[in-house]
Amino acid sequence: TPPRVVVVGAGFGGATAARCLAAGGIDVTLVEAAERYVACTGSNAVVVGLRGIAAQTFGYDALGRALRLVRASADAVDPVARRVRLGDGTALAYDRLILSPGIELRFDAVPGYDAAAAEAMPHAWKAGEQTVLLAQQLAAMPEGGTVVLSAPANPYRCPPGPYERASLIAHFLKTRKPRAKLILLDAKDTFSKQKLFEAAWAKLYPDMLEYVPLAAGGQVSEVDPAAMIVRTDFAEYKADVACIIPPQRAGRIAALAGCTDRSGWCPIDPVTFESRLVPGIHVIGDAAIAGAMPKSAFSANAQGKVCAQAVIDALAGRDPQDPRLINTCWSLVAPDYGISIAGVFRPTNGLLADVPGAGGISPLDAPEAVRAQEAAYAEGWYRTITRDVFG
Ligand code: FAD
Repeated sequence: TPPRVVVVGAGFGGATAARCLAAGGIDVTLVEAAERYVACTGSNAVVVGLRGIAAQTFGYDALGRALRLVRASADAVDPVARRVRLGDGTALAYDRLILSPGIELRFDAVPGYDAAAAEAMPHAWKAGEQTVLLAQQLAAMPEGGTVVLSAPANPYRCPPGPYERASLIAHFLKTRKPRAKLILLDAKDTFSKQKLFEAAWAKLYPDMLEYVPLAAGGQVSEVDPAAMIVRTDFAEYKADVACIIPPQRAGRIAALAGCTDRSGWCPIDPVTFESRLVPGIHVIGDAAIAGAMPKSAFSANAQGKVCAQAVIDALAGRDPQDPRLINTCWSLVAPDYGISIAGVFRPTNGLLADVPGAGGISPLDAPEAVRAQEAAYAEGWYRTITRDVFG
């Protein structure tokens, strides 16, 4: 029989890898548990009512026409027998397995913040009901209210995401509830595109947004969802709306397959994305430890392509190629104000490292027309990537 590949997770990483394998004539089965995909990319605009959740939502029909798609949850992996067990008890045999399960939120990391607390204080870090809930809470917030937003320490899904969210919430407050304020609590002192964000905040939202870095007591030590209180070691904040983005780890199936280390993420060989812990299993997307590459949809898509080629080469008995991968992340600071960071990465000393001089950020002193153009690029990229992945 021809070699079989199973891919778990039809998100930006897994669906891309499966499409490439199918296009390469490989016998591939893609396993996805969700009813439909709700994209996180662009979902900060939903949080502040600039777009609807429908614009984020994709069905799997086109994927199902392009390849063999199994709508089930992968519940266990036997890496010795090379089988994936599905929710209905059936098993899929594989020669190579690719895991792209995304993230699991760590409800054990912030005292008081568990799955029930997320109903009162949404994370909205997995798009869907949580995104809509946070949008509803913001819309219903009283005039002059306080929004508290907390960002976790590295690593986590979408490094600039909390700051884009803070920016768009500040824009929402400025235009809709001008007496309200936003407090951004951060468990670190530096963040992605920081100079660009801070310059934009000073210009657009000078009195609206208070940023509290780790050094000033930004780490959340406890939350009380019933009283809507967020505590740090330094202060106590009473919130009208609280968005807590907790620390994360690789999606659960990665741990069940034995692919996670003590960090909760998956160490991989940067040339092939094969797990350093379990032979025959590759891990891509947010779940993987990809060195300097951020956890983004753009990265997951690039990794899906490189990993698929590495699997095709391995099945044919060929040596893997030495890959180059690209990431670009756009963020909106306001609806017509976009900024970006780009990087090129290659395997170096066992990790994916930045190719020196190959990336960069938007210019700090760009005119408004350039910011508006970048906002349009962000939307263009979103349309392109979602069509590429979901058809
Ligand atoms: P996912 O896209 O989460 O896909 C994982 C899939 O696996 C899911 O469909 C899930 O249902 C499925 N799955 C998991 N476990 C199982 C199982 N056991 N069995 C079956 N199926 C399973 N990135 C960008 O590039 N640009 C942006 O502008 C951007 N903005 C963002 C804004 C926000 C607010 C957030 C939270 C994220 C943003 N991101 C952005 C990051 C991006 O969403 C993620 O990096 C990306 O989704 C990672 O892809 P993935 O394939 O690893 O995981």
